[in-house]
Amino acid sequence: MNKAGKVWVVGLGPGDHSYITPEAKNAIAAADTIVGYKTYIDLIKPLIEGKTMISNGMRREVERCETAVKLAEEGREVALVSSGDPGIYGMAGILLEVKEQLKSDIAVEIIPGVTAVSAAAAILGAPLMHDFAIISLSDCLTDWDRIRKRIHCAADGDFVIALYNPKSSQRVTHIEETKEILLTYKSPDTPVGIVRNAKRGQSEVTMTKLEDMLTHKIDMLTIVIIGNSNTYIKNGKMITPRGYSV
Ligand code: SAH
Repeated sequence: MNKAGKVWVVGLGPGDHSYITPEAKNAIAAADTIVGYKTYIDLIKPLIEGKTMISNGMRREVERCETAVKLAEEGREVALVSSGDPGIYGMAGILLEVKEQLKSDIAVEIIPGVTAVSAAAAILGAPLMHDFAIISLSDCLTDWDRIRKRIHCAADGDFVIALYNPKSSQRVTHIEETKEILLTYKSPDTPVGIVRNAKRGQSEVTMTKLEDMLTHKIDMLTIVIIGNSNTYIKNGKMITPRGYSV
């Protein structure tokens, strides 16, 4: 029987190569096989020459993880690549669940990456300096009722709120309803930062306020950050005070 291999679940960061961590590059270099969604594999083409590549389309995440576990069982050293941080709406959890389901005892190592909210916050200024909540508006795997409840709770708690998966071509009303819920707790003037393609080629950045946020382009390549009651925008920077006297 082969010696069992390993799966590294590798976060590739927001897109630009300079945001791939040295540790992620080490894992990719050590792997003999790369598994991932085609777009992400394309992103790291120069790093993976000569390795076996197994890519498939979107929404086939479980299948991808089963493939990675089975290849590791055969003794392969597999890098399963995921955008941003693999533990934030990424592949890490699915891989661990699939490993348990298959009763596999392969080694797994998760390599964190720069997640979209960190990349976007750095572009906007410093909007996450106080407590914040990340909410995905995708209802593919979570009921909209539960997402709606979380929006209410985060707004009631005066959290800064970051929205992942804010709007797709088929899902346009959730962001509208989110804005209406937020307006029942937050001022219409609350600062909002919208970043498209953060740290991924040409970023598009918009700073606006809650009541106007839907007049700007929002899609699945975008992240939206809504401030708390102390957040302000000054000289093109969105700032949430931590509380220091400055
Ligand atoms: N694991 C990823 C998130 C996957 S969910 C991470 O940690 O970043 C996909 C959503 O993340 C997108 O719909 C978008 O809202 C957000 N996103 C990912 N990369 C982004 C980027 N470079 N710029 C803006 N938003 C991004």
